Amino acid sequence: MISADESAGGMFRRWPFFQRLLSWTKPYAPFERGSREYERYDWNSLLPEEADNRALMTTIMDGTSYYPSRPEMERNLATFAERTKLAVRYGCRWTTTRRDDDRWVLETTDGEYRCQVPIFAVGVSQPWRPAMPGIEDIPHYADTRPAETYAGKRVFIIGKENSGFELATGFLQWAKQIVLASPSAAKLSINTRSLVGVRARYVQPYEDHVLAGGVIVLDASIERIERTGAAYRVHTRRSDGSGDLPFEVDDVIAATGFTSPLLDLPRQGVATVGRNHLPAQTPFWESASTPGVYFGGTIHQASPGLRKHGIPSNSGGVNGHRYNGRILARRVAEKHFGITVDKPVVAKAEVVSYLLREVTSAPELWHQKSYLARVLIRDEKRGILDDGILPLQHFLDSGPADAVAATLEENPAGDIYPVLYTRRGGVSTEHDLAPNPLHDFRTREHEAAVVDALTGLFL
Ligand SMILES: Cc1cc2nc3c(=O)[nH]c(=O)nc-3n(C[C@H](O)[C@H](O)[C@H](O)COP(=O)(O)OP(=O)(O)OC[C@H]3O[C@@H](n4cnc5c(N)ncnc54)[C@H](O)[C@@H]3O)c2cc1C
Repeated sequence: MISADESAGGMFRRWPFFQRLLSWTKPYAPFERGSREYERYDWNSLLPEEADNRALMTTIMDGTSYYPSRPEMERNLATFAERTKLAVRYGCRWTTTRRDDDRWVLETTDGEYRCQVPIFAVGVSQPWRPAMPGIEDIPHYADTRPAETYAGKRVFIIGKENSGFELATGFLQWAKQIVLASPSAAKLSINTRSLVGVRARYVQPYEDHVLAGGVIVLDASIERIERTGAAYRVHTRRSDGSGDLPFEVDDVIAATGFTSPLLDLPRQGVATVGRNHLPAQTPFWESASTPGVYFGGTIHQASPGLRKHGIPSNSGGVNGHRYNGRILARRVAEKHFGITVDKPVVAKAEVVSYLLREVTSAPELWHQKSYLARVLIRDEKRGILDDGILPLQHFLDSGPADAVAATLEENPAGDIYPVLYTRRGGVSTEHDLAPNPLHDFRTREHEAAVVDALTGLFL
């Protein structure tokens, strides 16, 4: 493992800009810290094998908020790296990539590395700007100044996603006027009932807007930005067709998103997707166009899964990609190094209660709805085997002939319910189970539904 940084923490060594995360950790939860079930309440700790190093975030937070501060998160990651004795070469930047027979060769500022399987976990935090006249000359989120320097200023923020709303939240007590603009209406996570949209943590400017307190949340395209002496003129065109609206402001900030520093990977055949050009990936986070090249961490957000009901994975955040990481390690071990992972036998009498326990409390399923699944397979010799947690899309596209995958899913009405996907002779059938207001699916009704789905397959 190499890192261009001088120490652990990645992007959290400097961001979020206003120094507090949008992902939470609840020190007090219905399950004991360090247990698997507890992970559902702790979005920020990494997942070690050893019990002593689990739920580390809770040992670092100071109790002022259930959103850790940025320095606390940095300390959480650094403590993890130190206690698990990860061997990382810091201050070592990968610069170019080439193929040499069956090896990848990575040139770095600290020499050449050769490997069979490179995994690029280089983050999604390189500033990205859309094409727009004048945008090259204005600061990006990454260039934001200390909040007090915006005191009494009119600030125009381009972008209405989390980073734009985060800045607006931090400017509320400083700026004279805040405009947040982009062509589409702002989405709020509490309305989309998913991580799509602005998180509740940054919704305060939106309330200020609806109560007409001085923040303007505008649906308009930005036609061009002009410098006018010490100020700016921003030409906007309203999305509802009601015409142009110019703004005279003191500051403009592009909160237009981030991309990944892929360097020469596209020249090595790595295809990219989406407006911010992230690598196109298979369900196991392998480059879709350059086999043998894998991605790690938040870049997994570009491997979208099924997007059932339009809801994406949570792979952009630690709470989602930490589970993908485990599966990725297993996949690389199996596919490239011939290491097979043991698949324990599940007694026939235990299958129903096991699946209902998993959908009630498995953190992988709760954090990665419709994306990761608990998979059981039928083996002619050994019986029912537990194949672990795997990507749902892989199971449906090319899973075993006789098997079941259990997931949690959410419909547009906000109901959360388990789904069983059975495969019989390779043919998939979906079985939606009923929601439960307490999210506990260990009921007679659910038992009957599981028995029904598995009869003739496992039972
Ligand atoms: C503004 C912002 C706020 C966010 N807030 C949250 C949050 O509150 N909670 C959450 O869960 N997620 C948050 N995220 C998503 C977040 O980035 C990830 O969850 C997490 O940081 C991803 O870890 P990572 O290791 O994939 O990437 P990063 O943390 O970005 O780390 C990438 C690493 O790659 C290294 N690297 C890059 N290029 C090279 C190179 N050429 N050679 C060597 N090393 C290199 C970097 O030095 C760095 O150490 C946020 C993202 C942004 C942009």
